[in-house]
Amino acid sequence: MIKAVLTIDDMPQENTIPIIDYLLERNIRPLFFAIGEFVEQKPEPVIYALQKGLIVGNHTYSHANLNEVSLEEGIEEIKKCDEVLDRIYKEAGVERKIKVFRYPYLDCGGEKNKVYTDLLRDLGYKKVDDTGVIASQYISNGWKFENGTNCSFDCEEYLLREGSDMTIEKILANVDAAFGKEEQIKDQQHIILIHSHDLTDEREPGYYKTIVERMLKYGTEFVEASFMDFWKLS
Ligand SMILES: [Zn+2]
Repeated sequence: MIKAVLTIDDMPQENTIPIIDYLLERNIRPLFFAIGEFVEQKPEPVIYALQKGLIVGNHTYSHANLNEVSLEEGIEEIKKCDEVLDRIYKEAGVERKIKVFRYPYLDCGGEKNKVYTDLLRDLGYKKVDDTGVIASQYISNGWKFENGTNCSFDCEEYLLREGSDMTIEKILANVDAAFGKEEQIKDQQHIILIHSHDLTDEREPGYYKTIVERMLKYGTEFVEASFMDFWKLS
């Protein structure tokens, strides 16, 4: 049986609260990564998540590609989102016990990676414990040694947009291949990436339900994330 941590990026959006309600009804406790400026514009879904006891992590202030912006801008993107999260946790009346970070575009900062690693460590960040992840791409990308929380299964549902040939059928076929084969699923851990995107919901209403239900069909056990110190890894 696959044990899976469900991570949800790019919140808060209109569909964030419906996603939370749907998942909690099934005892699935996701881990969110929020965009700082969205949190400032639309705080309610974040407060809702926090008051349900869910963790909201840092996904930069403006969804910047930290490999492409200058080092100063990159540092500012991380720090500014961190401060926004501090404020929203306070507003929600919830102690911020765990800080986690995810690079937008799963970019790891390129040559600036070491500086970001030091910054995140100094700010008290951890990463999702990925000890049980064996997905080959995750290993070959070196993500076991990364400071940010990456993913071992990308639903790619954000491609469900005008101008893309991605379909929900293709996504479900990918889920079948990764979650449905007996020989692949022994003691395997996945960190699943899906998004809270209103545009995707317009194109494919309730896309998150369709995908999660297919994973549940194969007996996937959704577990709450546990965390580890990344700076001891390299
Ligand atoms: Zn993102």
